[in-house]
Amino acid sequence: MNIRFILFALLTLEICSCSGKPENTDTTVINEVLPEKEKIQARVYSAEYLLGKFNPKTDTSFALIPMKYCSKEGMYLRKETIAAFVKMYDAAKKEGVNLKIISAMRNFNDQKSIWEAKWNGSRLVNGKNLSQTIKDPVERAKTILRYSSMPGTSRHHWGTDMDLNSLENAYFTTAEGKKVYEWLKKNAAQFGFCQPYSVKNETRPNGYEEEKWHWSYTPLSALILKEYSQKIKPDNIAGFTGSETAAKLNLIEHYVKGINPECR
Ligand SMILES: [Zn+2]
Repeated sequence: MNIRFILFALLTLEICSCSGKPENTDTTVINEVLPEKEKIQARVYSAEYLLGKFNPKTDTSFALIPMKYCSKEGMYLRKETIAAFVKMYDAAKKEGVNLKIISAMRNFNDQKSIWEAKWNGSRLVNGKNLSQTIKDPVERAKTILRYSSMPGTSRHHWGTDMDLNSLENAYFTTAEGKKVYEWLKKNAAQFGFCQPYSVKNETRPNGYEEEKWHWSYTPLSALILKEYSQKIKPDNIAGFTGSETAAKLNLIEHYVKGINPECR
């Protein structure tokens, strides 16, 4: 483990033991150990931000990811995430591993399009039109939730999370995919990245299935998740087809917070 993340962990622990300190103190302490470009902006996250209801093109804390790192044009992430990713990309490249961002920030409306297409059957799930094969709304939502988030609950809203190389776990069993995943498992933490949707077991019993492609920049996303847990209530998960199932599925507890404990 990289020394600055050991420091980060120790300092965060120290902060947590001091009661009555404002939330943003975390940022000050983290910044003491982060290089200039990766320093975390002190800010209070609005419910709109946490729910992805904004445009990254007009938010000054976001930047367009240079095409060199992407599979397509027009993807955005938080500036700190890009700075950390660039370092990880260069280190991987030196060892013959090519990292490619295939999805980055997706806002509420982007996620609403994906969710509703799967809900109404215009996008097939495992080759099936769910609007015809699963009539029960809760069961249909559960099936979509194996790999897709409801709008307002996706980590992709935050500018801290990205999908790398392939959206298929099968890719990560090929020679090339294995090399990529093994490299990330061994090295990503040094750069601040963590796999939130790790294998499901007793330490992660709930939430999405394993996603070997989804990586999160935790110096930032751990702070955002903390704010999300405090500010977003089940009533805020609304404004799309099928949203009434969220309350029955304990969505915030089981899915938003159902992540690899190492990413907290
Ligand atoms: Zn993802």
